[in-house]
Amino acid sequence: MIRFQQVHKSYAVGGRQVAALHPLDLEIEAGEVFGIIGHSGAGKSTLIRLINRLEAPSGGQLWVEGQDVAALDGDGLRALRRRVGMIFQHFNLLSSRTVAQNVAFPLELAGEPRARIDARVAELLERVGLADQANKYPAQLSGGQKQRVGIARALATGPKILLCDEATSALDPQTTASVLSLLAGINRELGLTIVLITHEMDVIRRVCDRVAVLDAGRLVESGPVTEVFLHPRHPTTRRFVSEAEHVDENGLHADFAAVHGRILRLTFLGADTYAPLLGRIAREAGVDYNILSGRIDRIRDTPYGQLVVALVGGDADVAQQAFESAGVTVEVLRA
Ligand code: ADP
Repeated sequence: MIRFQQVHKSYAVGGRQVAALHPLDLEIEAGEVFGIIGHSGAGKSTLIRLINRLEAPSGGQLWVEGQDVAALDGDGLRALRRRVGMIFQHFNLLSSRTVAQNVAFPLELAGEPRARIDARVAELLERVGLADQANKYPAQLSGGQKQRVGIARALATGPKILLCDEATSALDPQTTASVLSLLAGINRELGLTIVLITHEMDVIRRVCDRVAVLDAGRLVESGPVTEVFLHPRHPTTRRFVSEAEHVDENGLHADFAAVHGRILRLTFLGADTYAPLLGRIAREAGVDYNILSGRIDRIRDTPYGQLVVALVGGDADVAQQAFESAGVTVEVLRA
């Protein structure tokens, strides 16, 4: 759907070229929710804005739906922007237009007849849960409602791709959750490919299928969220995960110097998450276990559990083997 090949971007700053994105390769598949995470200044906005040519690449090649984006002329660019919708952190609504008029705007630009516009606007407002707010102005809405207007407007021209630029960063946690579940529903029901950028790992965990981590303009890690979130490799990724989990970079809640035994991190994924393995294996290996930290949650729709346990007494090797045979991923945090 979207393919970056050695794409890079520099900006001229004080007569010098400063790299915002070093050459990177990336493929985003049709129908997936793809997240890009990075700290401020990592190059996320630059990357996402290349996709709809709000920024032009300095080099490399970028294809969107098989089209070389750099080669598009004015008409080609307008057609691209109809197929690639975008929502923003600060919503970018027109304050002098009502909710319905904001959603109608891209359809008016596309020269659609009035009756078609009205029907489409009604359908879109229904989808985002704002059918009863059509005649309000943006200033009369909450942040979450404003973002729903942004989403309806972005969907107006029937895009295949939706770009989300820190779309929940200005929202409180509860509103964030409802906007993310709206986006997940749009992905599932309309089959839209969604590319979102964020600095919050929790946003990635809730809605994304795959993730790429940007650090100082370089793509340092990417893969399925189940892999990257549960087994982060790059230090930047580890830091994002540990912030989301409220643990240190070893996955521990505290300094366990005073804890005896072998410390393992056990990762359960999918249906195994709910299997009663821990007690059985501990009994069979004759070990005692001490749960030091744990979380059972979901990555998008996949249940996972991650426990840090200390095994004391008995045969810790036997227990460790038994976990591995049962399909649990075992990492030894302290032998
Ligand atoms: P992020 O979205 O991850 O915060 P950006 O893509 O906005 O990162 O910025 C990446 C780098 O490029 C930063 O160092 C930023 O200062 C620089 N940059 C972004 N846009 C411009 C611009 N228009 N002119 C000059 N430098 C820019």
